[in-house]
Amino acid sequence: MTAIKEPSFRESVDLMFNRAAALMDLPPGLEEKIRVCNATYTVRFGVRLRGQIHTFTGYRSVHSEHMEPVKGGIRYAMAVNQDEVEALAALMTYKCALVEAPFGGSKGGLRIDPRKYEEHELEQITRRFAYELAKRDLINPSQNVPAPDMGTGEREMAWMADQYARMNTTDINARACVTGKPLNAGGISGRVEATGRGIQYALREFFRHPDDVKKAGMSGSLDGKRVIVQGLGNVGYHAAKFLSEEDGSLVVGIIERDGAIYNPEGIDVEAVHQWIVKHGGVNGYPDATHTAEGTAVLEEDCDILIPAALEGVINLSNAERIKAPLIIEAANGPVTAGADEVLRKKGTVIIPDMYANAGGVTVSYFEWVKNLSHIRFGRMQRRQEEARHELIVKELERLDRYLGDAWSMSPDFKAKYLKGADELELVRSGLDDTMRIAYQAMSEVWHDRDDVDDLRTAAYIVSIDRVAKSYRAKGL
Ligand code: NAD
Repeated sequence: MTAIKEPSFRESVDLMFNRAAALMDLPPGLEEKIRVCNATYTVRFGVRLRGQIHTFTGYRSVHSEHMEPVKGGIRYAMAVNQDEVEALAALMTYKCALVEAPFGGSKGGLRIDPRKYEEHELEQITRRFAYELAKRDLINPSQNVPAPDMGTGEREMAWMADQYARMNTTDINARACVTGKPLNAGGISGRVEATGRGIQYALREFFRHPDDVKKAGMSGSLDGKRVIVQGLGNVGYHAAKFLSEEDGSLVVGIIERDGAIYNPEGIDVEAVHQWIVKHGGVNGYPDATHTAEGTAVLEEDCDILIPAALEGVINLSNAERIKAPLIIEAANGPVTAGADEVLRKKGTVIIPDMYANAGGVTVSYFEWVKNLSHIRFGRMQRRQEEARHELIVKELERLDRYLGDAWSMSPDFKAKYLKGADELELVRSGLDDTMRIAYQAMSEVWHDRDDVDDLRTAAYIVSIDRVAKSYRAKGL
């Protein structure tokens, strides 16, 4: 028997695109224009470390420039390659279109194991990579704006922003050249946890649609739902933490590099996070059972499976055995095109990556706008809002005195109502709104069209249609 060949990550994205495009009425040639990746730049550069020159390979891929700047994270991992970067750049195009962030799609990567380098070495390498990209406008506030991804975070973004600023001393908008920066270097409140927060908001919105929940064979709310998460990094940690601490979900399994831990009674996500910080992995964590073969836990019984680490982890070799009725793709491309078909046939509902993990780029968009406007959100209106609320509260207090026991304000009403929104609250409100509206656009296509039987195809249709409209407006 010949084994069915698993497509590469990029082929998977193209196959999923084709599936949706076949249901659309795009003018000839436009479909191809949207699908293909415009350009990929490969750079090899040397850095002198520990007395010798080390050569690194990096990529920056620009998938679509129907809107500029283009946007997408920079990944540090040994597995980084052109195929992966191009697949991720394509997903960025569709993701931005779906959540109405006014960007084209891009992605970058550096082939490196960041854990093997000291902080000052990583700074040298990052600055050199940023120099190579900025020289070619592949880091630029109006053309190409990177962000964090696997293996990078605030620290790397701060180095990149500083490198760009050193090279462009008169660019007043230099800070807008990358997002995901620390607050003190032009970042925005709520960006670190934005992707995980977006997963939470996406699930909340899903559970606001009882018909959709029913399609996954479930009912009720997030409360009490059993969750397994793969990858307790930036995205997985925040998603699991918020779901368990704020929505009553039960995190029963956590899969990491060194195996998985499982406890049907629930796992304290914060305690595991602290354990990983201290011990480098989940092994040895006391309040759960450890399994060395971590990926097997993807197949355990649960309600919601959250792959939040790598691409291709749910593939033809394990798709049939996945028990979760609902998968939310926190990572990019965790389900291959082949597995997607198997799962669809089984009736598994998949909330697709391009929607599910769009919280990061959404808050990055807010950060970019903040950098360009050179002012913190809420700075102008917060106290004015409070002053207007104060007027109402004073009136209510007057009533309170007249009506005596017949009516009184709730004890914490005054404090809550008086408080004007700060930056974090505004970011959360903007993110929540974005995740709700994008879900509704996707869900509408899912329900309204007989030829669409999954959320991923619906998401592609919404995105491709928007990108096509942009191209048409440009005269293509
Ligand atoms: P991260 O580096 O912070 O975390 C990744 C986690 O996965 C780490 O804890 C790592 O130990 C774990 N991991 C690595 N290999 C593993 C394996 N084989 N099995 C189990 N766990 C493994 O990265 P991140 O930023 O959280 O990104 C995770 C995914 O989310 C990626 O696919 C990324 O593209 C996607 N994403 C991230 C963002 C963001 O804002 N950071 C935004 C959108 C999408």
